[in-house]
Order: sequence, then C-alpha cells, then structure tokens
Amino acid sequence: MLKEKIRQLAENIYGDVVSHRRFLHAHPELSFQEYTTSAFVKSCLDDLGISWHPLADTGVVGLIKGDLPSDVVIALRADMDALPITEKNEVEYKSQNEGVMHACGHDVHTSSLLGTARILQTLKAEFGGTIKLIFQPAEEKLPGGASLMIKEGVLENPRPVAVLGQHVMPLIDAGKIGIRSGKYMASTDEIYVTVKGKGGHGAQPHQNIDPVLITAHIIVALQQIVSRVADPRLPTVLSFGKVIANGATNIIPNEVYLEGTFRTLDEEWRYEAHQHMKKMAEGIAEAMGGTCEFEIANGYPFLVNEEKLTASVRLYAEDYLGKENVEDLDIWMAAEDFAYYSQAADACFYRLGIRNEEKNIISSVHTPTFDIDESALICSTGLMAYLAVKRLGN
Ligand SMILES: [Zn+2]
Ligand SMILES: [Zn+2]
Repeated sequence: MLKEKIRQLAENIYGDVVSHRRFLHAHPELSFQEYTTSAFVKSCLDDLGISWHPLADTGVVGLIKGDLPSDVVIALRADMDALPITEKNEVEYKSQNEGVMHACGHDVHTSSLLGTARILQTLKAEFGGTIKLIFQPAEEKLPGGASLMIKEGVLENPRPVAVLGQHVMPLIDAGKIGIRSGKYMASTDEIYVTVKGKGGHGAQPHQNIDPVLITAHIIVALQQIVSRVADPRLPTVLSFGKVIANGATNIIPNEVYLEGTFRTLDEEWRYEAHQHMKKMAEGIAEAMGGTCEFEIANGYPFLVNEEKLTASVRLYAEDYLGKENVEDLDIWMAAEDFAYYSQAADACFYRLGIRNEEKNIISSVHTPTFDIDESALICSTGLMAYLAVKRLGN
C-alpha cells in the first residue's frame, strides 16, 4: 500500500533530511540572495535524478512524473530565505552567517520538500501524475519571491490543479499539523505618513501649526475606519508602531512622521480602506491648517485555502497522521507570500507542528531562539508526499 511505503520511506530518509536541514540552518541567506541554498537544492535534485530549471534568479523548479498514465499536475512549494537576526541557540548547527538566521523555519520547508521529492521519486513507478517542486526565494521581503515566480510562469507549462505549502508553527506539537479552510492569513500593507505644519516656540501655539496635535487627531480618527466603516464581520487591523515628532518640551516641530500596518482579508475592502484612510488623514490635516502626505506600499494579498481542496487535504492528513493529530487553525493576521499562489490557483497552506515543551522548544518564529523539534521532519516529508499522490488521484 502506497501509504505504508511512504511512511516507511519517511522514516528511512529521516537522518538525511535532518542533516540537510542542519546544513541549511548553518548557512542561512537573506531574501533574494539564496545562492548557496539554491545550489544545494539543485545538487540534491541532481543526485535524485530529478529534472529542474532555475526561475526568478535563485528559485528552482523540479518536475517528477509518475509512471502511471495521468495528466494531472500538482505543485508543492517551499520557501528558502532567512532573516536578519543573530541566532542565540547554542547548537552544533548554529548559523555560521553572522547576523542571518533561519528564524522562520524556511530551512525546514526546503529540506522537507527535498525529502518529499526523494520519496516521490523513489515511488514514481507506483503513481500517475506530475509533481512540480517549487523552491522559491524571498518570502520575507517585498515584492515576495512567490509573485516573481508566478510572473515568470511557475504556474504554467504544466499548470498545476493545486498548490500545497506547509509552514512551521511553534504553537503546535511536533507530529501534528494545523489546517483551516477558507480565508486564513491577512493582506499586509505598509503605511508611511508625513504630517506637515509650522514649528515654533511651544509657548506660542497661536503662531504655529502644530503637526503633533494634527497627528494625534489623525491616529485616533483612523481607528474609526476600523470600528465604523469596516464590516464588523471582516477582520481589519490598523496599527501605527512608529511616530516621530522630533521637537522638545518647548519646541513644536515642523513635521511628524509615522509608520503603520494595515491588514485585512478582502481585496475589495483593502483598496477601499486605503482611499478612506488617505482621505480622512488629508482632510484632518487640511482642516487644521497643515498638510499630510499619505503613502501606502502594498504588501501581499490575503491567503485563502480553497475549500474543496482543503477538505480533501484534511481527510488525507487525518488518514495519514490520525484524526487526533490534525488541529483546527484560527485566522492569523500575519501575512505570507504563499497568498499569491492562493490568488492564482486552488491552494492549501497548512501548519507543521514543531513544538516540544519537554525539550523547551517553544520559541516563536522571528526570534533569536527559534528552533524545532526535528522529529517533525518525519511528518513533514511523508505527509506532503502522501497528500500529493492522493490529490493526483492515486
Ligand atoms: Zn517569516
Ligand atoms: Zn515564514
């Protein structure tokens, strides 16, 4: 039975997957600079006899074709980039690249997809259909490697009927996964605002135009878009984390600068909200005698797990891992560039458990102490291989 063979192979290759993961972890590279990682992926695919071609500079696309007759194609995606963080874990596979760390688990995703590829390549006489392996750069940096890969045709020739991706989650125990059908992660836009007034002595407000007070009004008023304009059934977040008014106790500055983030789960509302925010901020500044430059840098779109595909992924996952090892996820207001695949094709993005409280492996992603319980690498490789062959109709 295919399931048992996959399970056995996942255990057999575990040691190699761990060493691949440790190599990648020790040699992290920032977004769009994944040259060593990309070369490593290519040489692993060569070793496995899997054909590949480069895409979007450091990206790699591999193809595995099952021997049984079938035209169905499915894509499996892993991201490869690391973050500008200095690792604090004292482990033998600690980052050797000062100031750069795989703190989001993309080393896990890449080594897992290589493991999945090995399982599928080994079993290719026993299934039909084509598996497209997507190793993409730069998930962590705009415009996102996914958008470039899609622009350069990763979803064409052949076009997959579905795209699957997995991502580590420190809230879930190793050996389990989490899944959610429908809207799952938020769109994320960056907001940059400059409010201009006329600075002067703090004792003579009547002779100045105070940009600090204007900014205070703008920050408060913009929250009304979240609470009064947004549909309350639709999650919307607006946060300003940077406000610079560089005056002094008795100095009113000329201008105030602020930065924030806007997140939601609906593309139409997203762009409508941009217009509301801009209009409100500019109107308040003008009414108070100042001006406001309101810039929005668009980030990733929201991520949606297609319902039919996700329902089948859940069933296969329950079949492979046991029902008790498949958890429900809540909406997560962080962003992820896998969203681009989900906007362009049927897609499902699930979470790989990597937590182990007994071993004190509990740190969040994007922290200097992030690490995983490597036993998760048995689940990550075998499950994805199983999902792929099942979705291909085997
Ligand atoms: Zn990340
Ligand atoms: Zn990530």
